[in-house]
Amino acid sequence: GKGAAMVTAVAYRLAAQHAERQSILDTLRLSREQLLEVKERLSEQMVRGLSKQTHEQASIKMLPTYVRSIPDGTEHGDFLALDLGGSTFRVLLVRIRSGKKHTVDMHHKIYSIPQETMQGTGEELFNHIVDCIGDFLEYMGIKGASLPLGFTFSFPCHQSKLDQGILLKWTKGFKASGCEGQDVVTLIKEAVLRKREFDLNFVAVVNDTVGTMMTCSYEDPRCEVGLIVGTGTNACYMEEMQNIELVEGNSGRMCVNVEWGAFGDNGELDDFCTQFDHTVDDCSNNPGKQRYEKMISGMYLGEIVRNVLMDLTAKGLLFRGKVSERLKTRGIFETKFLSQIESDRLAMRQIRSILQHLGLTTSTCDDSVLVKEVCSVVARRAAQLCGAGLAAVVDKIRQNRNLNQLTITVGVDGTLYKTHPHFSSIMQETLQDLAPQCQVTFHKSEDGSGKGAALITAVAWRIKCEGQH
Ligand code: BGC
Ligand code: MG
Repeated sequence: GKGAAMVTAVAYRLAAQHAERQSILDTLRLSREQLLEVKERLSEQMVRGLSKQTHEQASIKMLPTYVRSIPDGTEHGDFLALDLGGSTFRVLLVRIRSGKKHTVDMHHKIYSIPQETMQGTGEELFNHIVDCIGDFLEYMGIKGASLPLGFTFSFPCHQSKLDQGILLKWTKGFKASGCEGQDVVTLIKEAVLRKREFDLNFVAVVNDTVGTMMTCSYEDPRCEVGLIVGTGTNACYMEEMQNIELVEGNSGRMCVNVEWGAFGDNGELDDFCTQFDHTVDDCSNNPGKQRYEKMISGMYLGEIVRNVLMDLTAKGLLFRGKVSERLKTRGIFETKFLSQIESDRLAMRQIRSILQHLGLTTSTCDDSVLVKEVCSVVARRAAQLCGAGLAAVVDKIRQNRNLNQLTITVGVDGTLYKTHPHFSSIMQETLQDLAPQCQVTFHKSEDGSGKGAALITAVAWRIKCEGQH
């Protein structure tokens, strides 16, 4: 009868809508073959980045860090560390005690960097940084001490020695003018001279991945890889000197800052990108750059989710087809939100209240289910891509050493990795699947960038002092 026909029509419409939703989400799902392909392409770029001939064109820069030695436990003393690269700036005083039970004590202060300062002139940015350092030295009562200093500067830098770092390009939220192509140590020193209140004794410029690896290897000598999944993403690892063509010498190993965030900048990820990735890239500070990072890290995942939700809404598949002003607002989904919404303990009711908090009034329970599914698909893809990258790195180490099996530890830091309920397990699953000959242990680093910079400084300082005696 008529009733049955109507029921069929409704059922048909629901099925069609379901299929439409899924086909949109499918564009964000990667097959095992695709992930293998990502691993292969990334491996290729790593080799190209290391080689003198192809370094210029390679998307991944494989930057030498001049970090070779791992702490031997005899280093000690007081060190300053600076940490710039996320949304805040930190100054730390790190006291390292040697001996049987080596310990590290830290005092730190966090300073915010206003958006205008991140994106103003370099002079403004570095004046602000030096003001913060001055405040800290005063607060700790060590203004005259001029302690050896390690600077964790979490951006791609060209180094030809440990205490220098020429900024290749800003990433993440930074865009201060006049800094690219400049040595960041010189930029700070100039700001110190302008202020004329204290001296700084720079010993090391360190990427956050390197600091993280160092901190972990202080406790676990098997740690030879550093990984960050936070605002941005990147990795470093111990590479054979003979493969690092940009640096003289063929013996031993040096830590290489992979700068994998830039993978894809020569089109290597085009096959896997969606319209949402293109939109996020177009609207970013650095269009066309850091394409891999934009599919993985905390600064961008929320934006991908928001763009998917907008598309679903515009197609009438969500929020009753009404694209609100709120939903059109950039940056409303923070990493925190992605982690919260996927928490297994949450009832749909709680998801709805999170969405309401964001100013998105969900009309139905189905809306909440769909939003959660979008978050989960986007985070899963990020974790898988990250796992594929890591598979390329550990397999390279294994092959370097002619091993059939490699046992290795990865030191990790970053809010997305640490707070997301599923990111780490999906990443590890992918890694194991794509690099089955590597047994990888993950070690969460506690404050790797601060402590690691101090440890690297301590090692360099010890070697320097030994040389003078
Ligand atoms: C930077 C890397 C850094 C990573 C994690 C990226 O945007 O290019 O140098 O290690 O973020 O902070
Ligand atoms: Mg060499």
